[in-house]
Amino acid sequence: MHELAIIQDLLNVCEENAHKNNANKILKIELKIGRLSGVEAHYLHRAFEGFKSEKMFENAELIIHIQDVVIKCESCGFEGGIKKNRFVCIVCGGTRLKVIDGEELLLLRLEME
Ligand SMILES: [Zn+2]
Repeated sequence: MHELAIIQDLLNVCEENAHKNNANKILKIELKIGRLSGVEAHYLHRAFEGFKSEKMFENAELIIHIQDVVIKCESCGFEGGIKKNRFVCIVCGGTRLKVIDGEELLLLRLEME
């Protein structure tokens, strides 16, 4: 399961950060997930539940922000959203689009003590 591997990587990063900061508990993890990242938020939440038995994460809260796709049109210069599942510029109908947001999975914020 893709999401389980993601959570594992993520929690490793959290643990490393905690050690560096002499913290032993993670309180809050905020993630940004792009709609094009192929990751499902509810699977991440479910995978995360499995790690709550570990002392470091027992009080941790996972907050996920979904990032819509943002493109830049190379024909007319428009920057903004697109219609769902239609990869064309909403202004000029162009298809030479560069994705500028909505692709990645990013750790936004980490709270620990
Ligand atoms: Zn355009």
